[in-house]
Amino acid sequence: MSSDSLPDVLTTMNADGSRRWVRPKRAPGRFLTLRAIVGWGLIVLFVVLPFIHWNGRPVVLLDVPARQFHLFGRTFLSTDGVLLMLLLLTIFVGVFWLTALLGRVWCGWACPQTVYMELLFRPIEQWIEGGRKGQLDLDKRGGGARRVLKYAVFVLLSAVVANIFLAYFVGVARLGVWIIDGPIAHPTGFLVMLVTAGLVFFDFGYFREQMCTVACPYARFQSVLLDQDSLIVGYDVKRGEPRGKKGKVEGDCVDCNACVVTCPTGIDIRHGLQMECVACAQCIDACDKVMDKIGRPRGLIRYASQRSLEGGERKGLRPRTVAYPLLLTLLVGALVFAGGSAGQAEVTVLRGLSAPYVADQAGIRNQIRVKIQNRGNDARRYRIELLGLQEATLIAPENPLAIDGGARRETTVFVVSPPSAFTGGVRDVEFRVSDGEGFETTVPYKLLGPGAS
Ligand code: SF4
Ligand code: SF4
Repeated sequence: MSSDSLPDVLTTMNADGSRRWVRPKRAPGRFLTLRAIVGWGLIVLFVVLPFIHWNGRPVVLLDVPARQFHLFGRTFLSTDGVLLMLLLLTIFVGVFWLTALLGRVWCGWACPQTVYMELLFRPIEQWIEGGRKGQLDLDKRGGGARRVLKYAVFVLLSAVVANIFLAYFVGVARLGVWIIDGPIAHPTGFLVMLVTAGLVFFDFGYFREQMCTVACPYARFQSVLLDQDSLIVGYDVKRGEPRGKKGKVEGDCVDCNACVVTCPTGIDIRHGLQMECVACAQCIDACDKVMDKIGRPRGLIRYASQRSLEGGERKGLRPRTVAYPLLLTLLVGALVFAGGSAGQAEVTVLRGLSAPYVADQAGIRNQIRVKIQNRGNDARRYRIELLGLQEATLIAPENPLAIDGGARRETTVFVVSPPSAFTGGVRDVEFRVSDGEGFETTVPYKLLGPGAS
């Protein structure tokens, strides 16, 4: 670390305000091996997931243009406010619980930011730039051909990552068509891909650890999400201090700095738990190697709780480790119940876009729009009926209305009623929509007539 950096303020900034590039030295070890296995498993999953279908639909598709989210065979609509809220709350409480138990295990082991940076972009960068030494040399010289080559490779890689990412929003079929037809045939799609690739490139080429230390809100919540018994990566002060050359001091820390130079966020774990620590365990691997060399037991830096590092015993059972799973059970129950009662179709009845009603020789005519979303996978024919006004006539251009699985259609219908049906210009009726295969719903509606305000 350069002497003019601001390690205790912002590890990525020098005293003069310029960017301090963190060039971590890779520390091979048991945790790096395990993280690589988990990380590459996640990368493969990320690539293949858009291709997997469940009940005839993509297992994950966040179809923004159609305002539909397909998740593991279930379709969420933009109108499913309660379901989406329950889903988000379930995810949040799940994350809170995971953090209370295992600290920032998500950040260090599964977050795409860490996984792609440490398993893909960083290794490629270090390979092209000649390892950490080569990188520091290029930093001093202000760049060179190797750095240009690295950025060229990053551009290509960013385009690949952006295309896979987009598959989650437009589906692999549509993305395939965009790629085959080319950018001129699909300029909007191409622009979206370019912007996404640009953001990926900016993040992994420039922004990097600042995503974790400056931008990510999860890091900011650590002080409330962690407690004395959560699992963290910590330095054993009692064992390590006073630090210094082996044999000259009592502590086990030989002050070799190996834990600092390997840290991808540029911090010194010996300063205690810090918001910048993403729990990647690189400092554990680095320090274990040093301990092996000097013949001391491993674990001077280790996964532990604050309490156990201070000499106490880690408590498994705490109010939050009981409350979170209970809350999670309630939320999952509510989600399953709300999902089950959402029905096979969603029906919306709206007033027509023209005049509220028209009076002519036939009677009072109301124009009404009926929107039906088929939530199922199979095509259905939905019959629309009017209830509560026998003297009225329902005129529908297509009834029953045929709708493909997962599709939405809108039809305009007319209700012609005698003027005597209205009291105070209003008449309450209901629309019944049924598919003859078990689905049936009724939607209340107010017809308007003479005297309506
Ligand atoms: S790697 Fe271990 S021994 Fe070396 S400075 Fe860090 S804590 Fe001390
Ligand atoms: S302090 Fe250790 S665990 Fe935390 S980010 Fe740095 S290397 Fe990873």
